[in-house]
Amino acid sequence: MLIGNARAVQALARSLQAGSRSGAYLLVGPERVGKATFANRLAQALNCDAEQPPCSGCSQCRRIASGIHADVQTVTVQPVEEGPQHKAIGVEQVREVERAVSLTPYEGRVRVVIFDPADEMTTQAQNAFLKTLEEPPPHVTFVLVASREERLLDTVRSRLKRIELGLVPTAEIEAALIQAGVERERVRLLARLARGRPGWALAAAQDPSLLGRRQEALRSARSLAAMSIADRMDAAERLHDELRRDRERVLDLLGEWQGWWRDVLLAQSGAEDGIANVDMLDALHDDARRYRRDEVTTFVQALIDARGYLEKNVQSRLVLEALALEAPRAGAAVA
Ligand SMILES: [Zn+2]
Repeated sequence: MLIGNARAVQALARSLQAGSRSGAYLLVGPERVGKATFANRLAQALNCDAEQPPCSGCSQCRRIASGIHADVQTVTVQPVEEGPQHKAIGVEQVREVERAVSLTPYEGRVRVVIFDPADEMTTQAQNAFLKTLEEPPPHVTFVLVASREERLLDTVRSRLKRIELGLVPTAEIEAALIQAGVERERVRLLARLARGRPGWALAAAQDPSLLGRRQEALRSARSLAAMSIADRMDAAERLHDELRRDRERVLDLLGEWQGWWRDVLLAQSGAEDGIANVDMLDALHDDARRYRRDEVTTFVQALIDARGYLEKNVQSRLVLEALALEAPRAGAAVA
């Protein structure tokens, strides 16, 4: 089930109904907004037997949804030589895909190859893929899924039809959670904490460890602000170590920090409706009194900038040290 982004879905459905299928799409949007689901719906739309595709019910649609359709394939990252922990989509995988797509479809009308995450394709793999992209076989559609499209070569990007998925409004996520059978008392909190990413809300509804991780992140957000300069530098060092082990986890952590301080700003300006961390209002109000608004504003912007730099692997240690120093200081508040 795709949640939200009705406009992107309708635009695609219209163009397919008009018979204008592209040989290669670029599907972009933030993490966990539903890009993989959308790619699957696209594969269904191209192979569905019903009059109004995709119907979800025909044998083609059902086989695609179960991941057992012979003509729909997802290529994802695997360990590559560059480093023991580094995963990517490498040139060998592209060569395999090229061999596979030279065959006509086996059970459907269109072979669909989804690269997810395509922004983890090595430069070599992207270059190898160019020739196929210039002239995709007539019975093939490629779907490149990316949250960081700037990592794709311009030569690759220029050959793709771009579809953008955006963050989903809280109300639509709430409705989807209710439909998925999540208990009402958890719906409000999960939908807000999801910050526009229905995939996160659905995962957190099933996996309590995600909420536990968030609690931990909020504790560290608040404790950083109470630290001395020396302790902040130590904290930055620990984050830097963690970044090398598990980059996504650090980016998620900084995302939680940003959510917390954004909520503190909302509490300071009395805009309570927009608050995400609705289960921690007392702590939010404490911090709203404890910290100066200009310092919180600066730190929220610093978090946004830092995540951008870390995504691009720019000077990670310096970025984290500067960030730790920018956190609001307790005791600086005007009484
Ligand atoms: Zn169907």
